[in-house]
Amino acid sequence: MTVRKSKLFSRQLSRREAIRIIIRSSTIAAASPSIVALAGCSSSVETETITHRYIDQDVCIGCGECVSLCPMGAISLAETSSIDPDECAECGVCSRSRVCPVNAIQQGNLKWPRVLREVFSNPLAEHETTGVQGRGTPGIKANDSEKRYQHGQIGVFVEMGRPVLGTRFYDVEKVVQLFTTYGYAPVKENPVHELISDHARGLLVKEILNEKVISCVLEFVIPQRESGSLLKIAEELTLVTMCGHGLISVNRIRRLTSQIREGHISAKEAANDIAAPCVCGIVNMARAESTFNKLVNAV
Ligand code: SF4
Ligand code: SF4
Repeated sequence: MTVRKSKLFSRQLSRREAIRIIIRSSTIAAASPSIVALAGCSSSVETETITHRYIDQDVCIGCGECVSLCPMGAISLAETSSIDPDECAECGVCSRSRVCPVNAIQQGNLKWPRVLREVFSNPLAEHETTGVQGRGTPGIKANDSEKRYQHGQIGVFVEMGRPVLGTRFYDVEKVVQLFTTYGYAPVKENPVHELISDHARGLLVKEILNEKVISCVLEFVIPQRESGSLLKIAEELTLVTMCGHGLISVNRIRRLTSQIREGHISAKEAANDIAAPCVCGIVNMARAESTFNKLVNAV
């Protein structure tokens, strides 16, 4: 895929300007006749005032055709169907599929920061910052054409959310933070780069954190001579993400790793420690123990 030269990077823009461009891009997409036609969107007053995709309860006949289409499981059916706006990632699949026999699925009037859901989840929406549709990047895997990393560098591609679960920027921020502690930031060509508000700490713009998207790709370039850091990041990420509720902190992981290294505790005790706050018991103890052992032995 060819990346059109981004307006954003043709001159220095502030973060605020960049975010406004993302919003404008989505607003234009929403207003485009072709997209509106695909979405089956009406120009009703509700469309103007409701700020998320929804099902017009006065129109829906409860046939249930739309329910199984939603990749986020956000549509449920009682007498009529409805969309849970918190779970909806604004991908537009339910609208574009045209399964609704009565045209009850309405696009809504997306505003900031919700508009980010569409920009990252709808493959027809283009990131104005990068000129690429969908997730806003062709991905570091397309390095043959993109040349993001060169000889002596490692291209790292972290995809979050796909398949099935989706991801929120809270979780994206955790990964950015972890890489930041090792001195790595998402490449500037990646759309997340413009959403970082504090580069020293790897924090994203606060108001976007709860926004849910189907998929978000992070890309980093790491010098090959620092491959040891990459292995540590991978093991730390493995441990941090073992609790589905995000209750394991990376600082805790590092402290426990030091304690194992100094002979104060075993890897098994460290695994027990991180499992303690996990209320759903999902932490895989054997995997946690072996991951701690790998971390301790990492250079
Ligand atoms: S826009 Fe996408 S995520 Fe939202 S209800 Fe429709 S199919 Fe589901
Ligand atoms: S396809 Fe249309 S009519 Fe059928 S349940 Fe979904 S919104 Fe209602």
